[in-house]
Amino acid sequence: MALTGAGISTDSGIPDYRGPTSVRATPMQYGEFVGSRSAQQRYWARSYLGWRRIGTASPNAGHHALVELEQHGLLGIITQNVDGLHAAAGSRAVIDLHGEIAAVICLDCGHRSARSAVQHRLGLLNPGLRAEPILQHAELRPDGDAVTDDWHSFVLADCLVCGGRLKPDVVFFGESVPKPRVQECYGLVDQADVLVVVGSSLTVMSGLRFVRHQWKAQRPVVIINRGRTRGDELATVKVDAGCAETLTHVVQTLQGPA
Ligand SMILES: [Zn+2]
Repeated sequence: MALTGAGISTDSGIPDYRGPTSVRATPMQYGEFVGSRSAQQRYWARSYLGWRRIGTASPNAGHHALVELEQHGLLGIITQNVDGLHAAAGSRAVIDLHGEIAAVICLDCGHRSARSAVQHRLGLLNPGLRAEPILQHAELRPDGDAVTDDWHSFVLADCLVCGGRLKPDVVFFGESVPKPRVQECYGLVDQADVLVVVGSSLTVMSGLRFVRHQWKAQRPVVIINRGRTRGDELATVKVDAGCAETLTHVVQTLQGPA
């Protein structure tokens, strides 16, 4: 079973939160988002601009290697990323632990819709922003929350069903991962011989708990990550290297000489 984090998506141009090259990020907390319309304007204005980059990112060699590894016994992927790149690469068994940035949910009635449709509506509601240049690397955060100062006049799109408040269907900081999703992950981890962490510093408990669980069950944990992680002392093997290069090498080794 693989547990993946932001480090696997950096080669796709999506910056890492906490890796050695990360931009300092102060993501909006859940309580702040739901607490005021002004916070929602700020979030959605940034997110509108950031989406144009996230929405066009493509899977890289690391994602493709994990697809190959399904043929060599990989049971599935639990990902902390919200970019949808595992599914885009063709991985079949993927659990989006923190949700998907490509989906939007209504906080008031629970209606789920496609982000692309909401993005289109936001563009029509905010014609001035459509002409803004696509944001550069350092201004963009992995959840699509890019930096912009021009949010006070941003017009929000409301739920088409009930007129309620829309939120990207991702788990914000300060928000819990839904319990059934966590239980499903534990179930999968329990079926696996090895848990391989790929590109995560395991800073947040939502991912680290699976490493601890595996360690307590005395099953091996492999960590592939550039730089230190919070799970290093629990790892059976630690590979301090890039995700794409390491996974590509593993696939080549398994496939044997051509
Ligand atoms: Zn609604």
